[in-house]
Amino acid sequence: MDEDAEKLKQRLPLLDYLRQQHWTARPAGHGSEFVGLCPLHPETRPSFYVNVSKNLFYCHGCGQGGDLIRFVQLSRHLSFRQSLAYLEQQNAPPADPAAVLEQAATFYQQQLDRYPEALDYLKQRGLHDPASIQDLRIGYAPGASLRRHLTAQGYSFHFLRRLGLLNSQGCDTFYRRVIFPCCHGGRIVNLYGRSIGTALAHRFLPGSQGGLYAWEQVRQCPEVILV
Ligand SMILES: [Zn+2]
Repeated sequence: MDEDAEKLKQRLPLLDYLRQQHWTARPAGHGSEFVGLCPLHPETRPSFYVNVSKNLFYCHGCGQGGDLIRFVQLSRHLSFRQSLAYLEQQNAPPADPAAVLEQAATFYQQQLDRYPEALDYLKQRGLHDPASIQDLRIGYAPGASLRRHLTAQGYSFHFLRRLGLLNSQGCDTFYRRVIFPCCHGGRIVNLYGRSIGTALAHRFLPGSQGGLYAWEQVRQCPEVILV
């Protein structure tokens, strides 16, 4: 979580955020300081200072100070975590769930060959042909590394959590499951995780789980066997 906060503060400097909120300021003598009216309390003489190089604020009127997240906590009356979620939502590039599922499926696909327990499971279920495994884009979730992979690509922890890919500790919810991407209209709309042991339940991501996936591929077939 702290790592997310640090990245967020680098991505969105405090002064930029304040300007987005229509805070007007003038340079306060030194090159790296700005001063303006305090957005946290009513005043007529500017006493709110922002130090650009330190990325911090301090108000000589109300005595409040801190970083971007502290400012959001005070100005919006939110907790630390709520402030972080608010800022990520405000400033994240509009994230497309299908694009993230595509990334996650590719990542899991790349893991499959490295984990004999997953390949053994597929063999045991009669799936031996590497070309079919490739075609179906079957993957494996060994656990713990998806978060690093996707946050490095700019997706926020909160977004990945909302999609159901991560749990509250940031671990893969598909841990120790063989992954089958469910496609519709050429896009991945869900992932199905088949538990390879008996300890964990099979699972889908939250959201639409009913219906027949890949209908467009079978609708021309005269006969369809559902299992
Ligand atoms: Zn103040």
